[in-house]
Amino acid sequence: MSSPVRVRFAPSPTGPLHIGGVRTALYNYLFARKMGGKMLLRIEDTDQNRFVPGAEEYILESLRWIGIEIDEGQGVGGPDAPYRQSERREIYQKEAQRLIDEGKAYYAFDTAEELDAMRKRLEQANAPAAQYNAITRMQMRNSLTMKPDEVKARIEAGDPFVIRLKTPRKEEVRLNDLIRGWVNVHSSAIDDKVLLKSDGLPTYHLANIVDDHLMGITHVIRGEEWLPSAPLHVLLYRYLGWESTMPQFAHLPLLLKPEGNGKLSKRDADLGGFPIFPLQWTDPTTGQVARGFREDGYLPEAVVNFLALLGWNPGTEQELFSMDELIATFDIAQVHKAGARFDIQKAQWFNHQYIRQRPDSELAPTVQQQAQAAGFDCSLEKAEKIVSLLKGRVNFAHEIFTEASTIFNAPTTYDEAIVAAKWNDDAIRAVTAFRDALQTFDGDFVADAIKHTLGDAMQQAGIKQGKIMQAMRLALTGLGAGPDLMLTLEIIGKDETVKRLESALAAL
Ligand code: GLU
Repeated sequence: MSSPVRVRFAPSPTGPLHIGGVRTALYNYLFARKMGGKMLLRIEDTDQNRFVPGAEEYILESLRWIGIEIDEGQGVGGPDAPYRQSERREIYQKEAQRLIDEGKAYYAFDTAEELDAMRKRLEQANAPAAQYNAITRMQMRNSLTMKPDEVKARIEAGDPFVIRLKTPRKEEVRLNDLIRGWVNVHSSAIDDKVLLKSDGLPTYHLANIVDDHLMGITHVIRGEEWLPSAPLHVLLYRYLGWESTMPQFAHLPLLLKPEGNGKLSKRDADLGGFPIFPLQWTDPTTGQVARGFREDGYLPEAVVNFLALLGWNPGTEQELFSMDELIATFDIAQVHKAGARFDIQKAQWFNHQYIRQRPDSELAPTVQQQAQAAGFDCSLEKAEKIVSLLKGRVNFAHEIFTEASTIFNAPTTYDEAIVAAKWNDDAIRAVTAFRDALQTFDGDFVADAIKHTLGDAMQQAGIKQGKIMQAMRLALTGLGAGPDLMLTLEIIGKDETVKRLESALAAL
């Protein structure tokens, strides 16, 4: 029986999480839930130079917002704690030492100048790739070329050193990626990668492999930018003696620019006026603020739906998926190889769909706050009615208030084209008759009753209602089109309705 699925999201806290990182986390999560497995969160912070304060909190908050639940890992704990790599350095040191003892890795003492000189030498000799490898290593200062006593003395003296992988000269490295199929690489294309740095911390490659092994990871689902590293990782599993439990790899397609050519960048987002980070981010050094999907008014379920379909689809026409539906339908084998074009209009369309589905009572406070901030009286009850009338016409909750401008403001101008086409004697008679009828109206001023009143008034005046409806709307809102007029009047109230009819009669 195969072991239970365990996947991990392993971001580096080097800044705000990119939306592509959120997609990676989401695909891991969907896969884990689909397979009844576990989702881990590991913080890969071994590159101290790139550490950014606040980035880890940002990652946790982003995952929470989007609705990805972590089963084990940073922030929730678990049997393999600690989940921050900077707190696990002895573990990596032990494994690096084991590789040395088994002759699969070696100490290297070369200074930056010496490495530079090697590169220059090779470049001058027109060597295809100037790298530290099976050939060049023998001309360098390392434990393969130095006497054991000297190596020992240097280490004891505290000389800085790194540990490098002794990459074989001629070996075939193969891996079967779940999305890309077989990937074959010759080991001569892999250099003698540094595994442990002079600060005693591991590089990404060593820490990642050691942790994936120790944490029992069965599937590594990550961005395509890691595909070139995958053969090295396979080699590391082999050298560490863990090849039989090596996880399966799945490298996700890139997110492409809106035009579809090249990788999506922060610059594209800035130029296009859309966010590329899940949450707003304030750079701790520059104070610069980058916009976030959340602060821009996107709902998490819309972002989830949008991201899920960036690089995967179930092969049906269905576009709207809740998280549970995604879990039920997601299939890693159906993830595309080709890059996915980042189409922000699609994200807006999803938001529109989910705004429509939100209960009115949840969106009402936003409208009320905006209205009050603009100096209007607005009860929660009124805000709810406005939401109900207008939420189907917007992409974002904050647009409802703007859309409601004809409710809060009596017209000061009237659409000239509609005036020219529709404001005639019948229109004037209709508006007058409606006003008169409303003056004797009693009872609840609700859409149905208003509709009857209008209908009766038009009948008595002998006017065909269809002919004057646009003029009626013009008189009441200044415009030729808009949401349901009777519901609009219900919200405006009787007195304001009468007032607007009178103003129109006076102005037009
Ligand atoms: N720390 C790496 C990153 O930030 C993880 C890559 C992987 O998943 O192996 O993308």
